[in-house]
Amino acid sequence: MRDENSCSAAHRLVTWYEQHRRDLPWRRTRDPYAIWLSETMLQQTRVETVISYYQEFLRRFPSVGALAAAEEADVLKMWQGLGYYSRARNLHRAARLVVARYGGRIPDDEESLSELPGVGPYTRGAVLSIAFDQPVPAVDGNVLRVMARFLGIDDPIQSPAVKRQVHSVVAGWLAETRPSQLTQALMELGALVCVPRQPRCTDCPLQDECTAFRTHRTQELPVRAKARPRREVVVVALWCEDARGVLLEQRPGRGLLARLWQLPATELPMPLAASDEETRQRAAGQKLAELFAAEWTEGGGAAATAVAESGPRAFALVGRDRHVFSHVEWEVFVYRPLSLTAYPARLPEPYRFARLDDLRPFALPRVYERLLRSIPAGRNLCREE
Ligand code: SF4
Repeated sequence: MRDENSCSAAHRLVTWYEQHRRDLPWRRTRDPYAIWLSETMLQQTRVETVISYYQEFLRRFPSVGALAAAEEADVLKMWQGLGYYSRARNLHRAARLVVARYGGRIPDDEESLSELPGVGPYTRGAVLSIAFDQPVPAVDGNVLRVMARFLGIDDPIQSPAVKRQVHSVVAGWLAETRPSQLTQALMELGALVCVPRQPRCTDCPLQDECTAFRTHRTQELPVRAKARPRREVVVVALWCEDARGVLLEQRPGRGLLARLWQLPATELPMPLAASDEETRQRAAGQKLAELFAAEWTEGGGAAATAVAESGPRAFALVGRDRHVFSHVEWEVFVYRPLSLTAYPARLPEPYRFARLDDLRPFALPRVYERLLRSIPAGRNLCREE
């Protein structure tokens, strides 16, 4: 393993950054709110995707105060399609705290920032170093990869000991140069040069001192602990449409995609290969019966029960899509009840009809947005599998 205190590497890195950095919208500002927003959006998300979301979000909520004053539903709507919606919820809650506690001024100390929802060590380091030029490391997966190669670290980069080691080396580098530049330089090197598969070492300002390069191990490093396989889930959703539009339900307040809107759905915690058409149709029938529970319908309950009990071909498959989250994979099947064309006049929470030509009031997970746009409205649309 090489000497960890190479400050000349830090200076070379900053010089390289000043010459090669991309012109990104969040690099044209020192506003801590804008930098916080960009760093939150960039987690798990590609730069190209984030740019337009970032600009739209700032247009709609140009300050912490504006964000704090917004309804959560509006914030989620602006986030629609970015995924990892807890980021948006936390940002919103944190903005309200910043207004309540600090009069709308984003705190510039580690302790206060740590108390804000969603602000972990990485975001805290990014905001403090980029916006306030403080020597606080921001270590994410990109930085871990670069430093694991540079230092020749053989242990899995997810391990706390490796994170501590990288944190300490980056802290040393930050103390020797301009923190805002160094933090962004490391991120940029990870994004443009020290990329995951084929690092472009010949373009790298750290090449002379890089352990992985010197020892021909750029393909072996970093070492990663084995990821757990994703859980597969079959999702059975209903297409209940009448003159008012298509029925949507709001997801629960906690957990995956909390409070987003979707087609009424039930989850079968099984891989696709273990499910069959009959099982899925039965699940659709049960969901329909649940939707038409006696307390909120007049007559609807009996109709739904009749559908639910009418055998395995009471529904037509009208849509199918797949969505991969970090730990779970959904295979979504959308079924339309063949014998129901009208639904109860009064709907309880969390159900609401949505017009397909105006889905703006509803923040939708991407997979349901795709389904709602791809399934044609109207009665004669049934496609058998
Ligand atoms: Fe990464 Fe290659 Fe640079 Fe080493 S020399 S830091 S492996 S790009």
